Amino acid sequence: MSLPPAINDFAVRVCAWQRRHGRQHLPWQNTRDPYRIWLSEIMLQQTQVGTVIPYYQRFLERFPDLQTLAGAGQEDVMPYWAGLGYYARARNLHRCAQVLVAEHGGHFPPDSRAIAGLPGIGRSTASAIAAFAYGERSPIMDGNVKRVFTRFFGVHGYPGLRAVEQRLWGLAETALERAPDDLDMTAYTQGLMDLGAQLCSRGKPQCEACPLASNCEAKRLGLQRELPEPRPRRTIPDRHCAMLILHGDKHVLLEKQPQSGVWGGLWSLPRYDSSHALAEACISQGIAVPDSGRMATFVHTFTHFRLHIEPWMVDVPRRAAEWLPEQSWTPFELLPHIALPAPVRTLLEPLPYTRKA
Ligand code: SF4
Repeated sequence: MSLPPAINDFAVRVCAWQRRHGRQHLPWQNTRDPYRIWLSEIMLQQTQVGTVIPYYQRFLERFPDLQTLAGAGQEDVMPYWAGLGYYARARNLHRCAQVLVAEHGGHFPPDSRAIAGLPGIGRSTASAIAAFAYGERSPIMDGNVKRVFTRFFGVHGYPGLRAVEQRLWGLAETALERAPDDLDMTAYTQGLMDLGAQLCSRGKPQCEACPLASNCEAKRLGLQRELPEPRPRRTIPDRHCAMLILHGDKHVLLEKQPQSGVWGGLWSLPRYDSSHALAEACISQGIAVPDSGRMATFVHTFTHFRLHIEPWMVDVPRRAAEWLPEQSWTPFELLPHIALPAPVRTLLEPLPYTRKA
């Protein structure tokens, strides 16, 4: 496939725009420290800058360097991620820190190829770390950047498809090959991210302010709404469960989730296949479940399924023993400090610990 001549100065135009209009003062900018850059890149996956900033700052206060993070227990790390979602990122981050200390002398490898071999780090993230920390000339291709490339070069097909993704990577490599030797990789890499986030946004791209507008295929053909093409439609399955909010004596019964699974490593509420199974489990412990304990059904959507939760609030006069080894009666005052999935935290809101006096 022939390449448009506009690819020759693509990188230079992005760079020049970034210096004048891009973001310059994000907390993870203006550093060459791969630890800080890595942390920001992982937090920014699937999450917007405004949401990430307070998490990033709290995380760094508690884990200021690689060694501190590697030396902490996962139990210490998860509360600093709770609410950001996609918890496998936090588990991999912790594991990666341990691998770096155990196998790389506590330092990041010197190039993106080696960085991409670490837990939880894909090709684009590895390139971003190497570009920001070492000035390496390697292309990135995250969600925002895919949008810029598909629109500018008029690439059709869902970018999640292997062939389409390979075409985009090829264009990104060529854009870098054609760029001058002294290209500022920090400004270019940040510029691609900023363009995707600030101008070439999903809903309403601001083409009139875009440095690429004069050669953009999507703009020329009026295809900004059509590109990038969406994922082919698929229905996600519905799953159902019942959750028990068993509380008494200013404690609530929580259950540690197994490492694998969507809430792996977090604390949650005891979960059952149905309200009937929940009631039977309670009765086996001598606890009656009143009809009045039933709360409104709550729906939480994950990437691959929709979970319909029937919550039951049951008040017991005094704490019983834990039913399972992975359960723990947790004092209300500790709840703000525990790693809980966002929907579980919402379910716990009616408990007296959050009620206003
Ligand atoms: S001209 Fe518009 S569609 Fe094209 S890259 Fe710029 S913002 Fe995106």
